[in-house]
Order: sequence, then C-alpha cells, then structure tokens
Amino acid sequence: MSGKRYLLTPGPTPVPPQVLAALAAPIVHHRSPDFRPIYDRCLQRLRAVTRTKNEVLLFAASGTGAFESAVQNLVTRGERHLVVTNGNFGERWAALTTAYGADVDRLDYAWGETPDPDDVRARLRERSAKAVWVVHSETSTGVVSDVQALAAAAKEEGALIVVDAVSSLGAVPCETDAWGLDVVVSGSQKALMTPPGLGVCAVSDAAYAAAGETPRFYFDWERTRKAQSKLDAAFTPPVSLVAGLDVALGLLLEEGLDAVYERHVRLGRAARAGAKAMGLDLFSPDDDRSAVVTAVRVPEGIDAGDVVKGLRDKHGITIAGGQGDLKGKVFRLGHIGFFDVFDITTALAAVELTLAELGADIERGVAVTAALEAYEHTQVA
Ligand code: PLP
Repeated sequence: MSGKRYLLTPGPTPVPPQVLAALAAPIVHHRSPDFRPIYDRCLQRLRAVTRTKNEVLLFAASGTGAFESAVQNLVTRGERHLVVTNGNFGERWAALTTAYGADVDRLDYAWGETPDPDDVRARLRERSAKAVWVVHSETSTGVVSDVQALAAAAKEEGALIVVDAVSSLGAVPCETDAWGLDVVVSGSQKALMTPPGLGVCAVSDAAYAAAGETPRFYFDWERTRKAQSKLDAAFTPPVSLVAGLDVALGLLLEEGLDAVYERHVRLGRAARAGAKAMGLDLFSPDDDRSAVVTAVRVPEGIDAGDVVKGLRDKHGITIAGGQGDLKGKVFRLGHIGFFDVFDITTALAAVELTLAELGADIERGVAVTAALEAYEHTQVA
C-alpha cells in the first residue's frame, strides 16, 4: 500500500485518534466558557500525571523553550550551577546555562553512562551550586537516570534540582513532589501523545522562592502561575493543542499510570530482546529502566544512517539515527506514548530486512518472535 507511514521515533510520537479528533474541533476563544473547562481539566490532569500539587506551567514552546524558562527564572549571571551531562541533552543544558552567564560546573559522563548520585554529592561538597541540572531520560542514548537518588544528593547539599523529563514524563515514574524535584520540564510530543508545541514546567515553592534576576517576560514563571490559577492565560494559548493534551492525559489516567509504566517496561524489553536475537549489540543499557528508547549498534561496515534511510524510503517507517558521535553508529527505536508491541515488531522486522539488504549477516525472523515473547511472558516487578 503506498503512502502508509509509521512514526517509531522517541519524539514526535504517534497521536491517538481521540486526540486527533480533539485537535480538529473548531477553534474556541481562550477567555470564554468554551475554553475554560478544557483548560481547567487539562491543568488538573497535568498535575496528576506530573504527580504534583503545584500548578504545572504550560508554555506555547517546545521542550527546550520550557527548559529556557527554568534558566531565565533560576539563573543569575555569575552564579554557580552544576550541570550533569551524559548525552546530547545534558550538553544542551550546559550550553543554555552558559549562554545566560551561569558559572557552569560540569559533571561529565561518557555518553551511555548513568550518573552516580555519590558523584553529585561529592562535587557539591567540593563546590556548592545553586541548582543541579539533570536529564531523566537521555533520549540520545536510552539511559534513564535515578532522579530520585540524584535529587536526594542535591537536597542533602542544599541545592535545587532541575529535571529534564522531556522524554520520560508519562513513560516512566516521575514523582515530582514525593522525590522533591524542584523543576520538572517536559514537552507535549513524546509520552504525552500530543503534537509538538507545548512545553510544560512543574515548579516547587522552593524554586519560585529562589527566582533569580535575569530579565524575562514571556517565560516569567510568576506571571504564568498567577494567570493559570485564574484560568486566564497570560498569552493566547494554543487552544487546539491544549484540547488535544487534555484528551491525551485523560487516556493516560484512564489506563492508570502504573499500567502505563508497566507497558513501557515491556516495550523496552521487547525492543531489546528483538535486537539481541538479531545478533545486534545494544548501546542503551539492557535494563528495565531503559523503557523510553532503545539505541542499537549497527554491525561493522554498515552506516546506521543507511538503515534509517532504507526504512523510511522503502518501507515508510521513520526511526531515529544516532546523535553527536553516535551518528552513523546506532539507530534508535522509540517506544513512548501511543505504542504497543506491534509497533516494536514492525520496526524490528523492517530493520532485519534493511540490514540484510545492506549486506549484514542477519538471521531473519527471529527478532519478532523474541520481542513478542519478551513482551508477553515476563513479569514486571
Ligand atoms: N530533552 C530531551 C531528553 C529530549 O528528548 C528532547 C527532545 O528532542 C529535548 C530535551 C528537546 O525538546 P524539544 O525538541 O521539544 O525542544
């Protein structure tokens, strides 16, 4: 069939039909009773999914925009901030905090490594910092960090913790209040099953109290918090995206967050089992935490870019390639949001076919069976 497309990347991700229907509804005015109930319900659901009692701020922006709000509100020029990097997005936050004049102390790990809370504690003891900036799910590598333990280390040493949960919120547990996360940033286009365009930011009382002196307006947290609490948005919100997000969050809550997290663990297991059955090496950890994206090394002599291109051009399947130094070396299968096991088996079957076409010595047909077995027949603790 010509024209059929599959979107199997870690963002943007497929959008459920109910959400697409909400997006297609006629435009309503944002300061009218046509919008307020939708806005109210969406914000309540956002608090439920983010597991916080605080207002979760919504911005018409990508995830990076919401993250920039954290930098504008927390960083004052010259102040020390500890940025933990273990992949592409940690690098981005080091660049962004540097751009705003922070005195950035970097705790660098190789791409693919998992940050250790003891290292954070030790570094803060050596040199204090106002905030520690970490990535929950490093989408470039598939590593999901233990932000609960990282937050505990930051707290012990009197620092705030800012978490990039762009690809993790709604896929793996992120207990904002219970874990003491001061800022949790995410975006609509990943596990939240909505098109790109909404950045979200949960902010703790301590983070509001620690606001810095960097000039800001659109991204000023206090302005948005006050406006949202009266359901009177500070600026025109993208009403259709808010209506879509409202439905998507409703779907997650209806499934139940624990069931959603379990589905993601199983999807991760299926992707890893399939890749290994094909004889490929994983780049991401072979670990249940790695439930967002699976990064897989390509065999010697094959360029991962050709695998990605082959899947897209011949089979209409979009997966992701490697970023930074991993470009050409890995491909990444996303499995967050509106995904089931057949999305994984579709990707694996097409990867097998494409690798064989590119001349790799691949045993055909084993990946799908291994993936289905891993999905169906394993217990999640
Ligand atoms: N952080 C992580 C972990 C991501 O996966 C992404 C997505 O690409 C971003 C940040 C950036 O988000 P956006 O592209 O919405 O600005």
